[in-house]
Amino acid sequence: MWAYGTNKDTVINLQKIPLADRKPSDGLIKMDVPEPILGDNEVLIKVKSSALNYNSIWSSLSHPISPFQLINQHIARNKHDIDHQQDYAIFGSDASGIITKIGKNVQKWQEGDEVIIHCNVIDTEEPISQIDGMLAKSQSIWGYETNYGAFAEYCKAKTSQLIRKPSNIDWSIAGSFCLTLSTAYRMLISPNGAQLRPGQNCLIWGAGGGLGNFAIQLANLIGAHPIAIVSTDEKEEQCRKLGASIIINRSRDDFGNFIFDNGEPNYLSWRKAKQTLEKKGVNNLDVVFEHIGRQTMGVSLFLLSKGGKVVTCAASSGFNATIDLRYLWMSVKRIIGSHFANYHEAEQAAQLVFNNQVQPLIHSVNHISKLPEMIDAIHSNSTYGKIVFTHE
Ligand code: NAP
Repeated sequence: MWAYGTNKDTVINLQKIPLADRKPSDGLIKMDVPEPILGDNEVLIKVKSSALNYNSIWSSLSHPISPFQLINQHIARNKHDIDHQQDYAIFGSDASGIITKIGKNVQKWQEGDEVIIHCNVIDTEEPISQIDGMLAKSQSIWGYETNYGAFAEYCKAKTSQLIRKPSNIDWSIAGSFCLTLSTAYRMLISPNGAQLRPGQNCLIWGAGGGLGNFAIQLANLIGAHPIAIVSTDEKEEQCRKLGASIIINRSRDDFGNFIFDNGEPNYLSWRKAKQTLEKKGVNNLDVVFEHIGRQTMGVSLFLLSKGGKVVTCAASSGFNATIDLRYLWMSVKRIIGSHFANYHEAEQAAQLVFNNQVQPLIHSVNHISKLPEMIDAIHSNSTYGKIVFTHE
């Protein structure tokens, strides 16, 4: 079968290129690989559509660690997944498709079922997974920390990753939303996240991106006020259409340069950011939706009102961030780490799409052969919304 990902030779060659000079497409190849072999609780899926997430950029750049190291770590946590250890790795964490084969213990699902795959892989026999799958030691992200991800003719998934696709949902929509919507749902709505309340103000970084556009919609859905941060007019317009009434364009408004080159806080720019918010009528900030990391974590914590929460799931601009702890304890604020979503949260989030309460923002629907081109586009921050692929 055909598949997109990488092999060990490609990673070795890629690592000779300095990180700053690497493009994701340098580390992404089309491969001819065997069909995956099914475990007892797994299904084989003919992929109909998939979508690009930022984790495939990390995989393609082989940074901060190579996909093979991630897969080895997954196998160390999940000895039964030894078949994931190959000299190739198939990327992609969002897909939808049709089940074509089932493992010998599968009862609830059958060939022909139309499914959406959510990317949380766990060992369901691990007791803690009954409380929250994200706490399981076995937990990995499918198509990032595991092999046999979305960008292939066929993929395999565990039954605990399957959500039934309603017949009225288009394939291009079905494969587009699960990773980002479920992540934003846990971050903002779930008891495991910030639990945003009606009437509260929520500042959303990267509001025109995959996570951010869902964060706007979720905030609106529960009656909170989303404050969208973007860097282009196009994204500004997009956020307005999604219902963000307050939008800050960080390339134009006084809202940037929050750290010096050595990472130390630029307090003057923090105060200017507060003033920019006040000029827009935002005098109180209850939640900050973070995923930028190094460049913004310090100011995010500073901008919050007393008792506020920063909820974070990533660090696109770098993992090492400086925060000024005085703004944490003196104002009784909280930082909440959040990662994808458990099965229940993913299913609840999907229902919002099925019930038309939240709409995936699709940048474009492309044939899968455009994957290398589109992964470079998302890396250069020149897109908004989800980039979706059809597989036929
Ligand atoms: P995306 O679609 O590429 O959007 C990211 C947005 O971040 C961009 O649109 C950009 O918006 C903004 N941004 C980039 N650099 C910035 C900077 N220095 N300062 C301020 N804003 C900046 O990506 P995404 O799908 O939303 O994902 C965002 C991050 O979350 C990625 O690192 C991804 O790996 C991570 N993630 C984690 C999880 C998890 O489960 N832990 C799940 C999903 C995603 P503007 O330029 O318009 O401001």
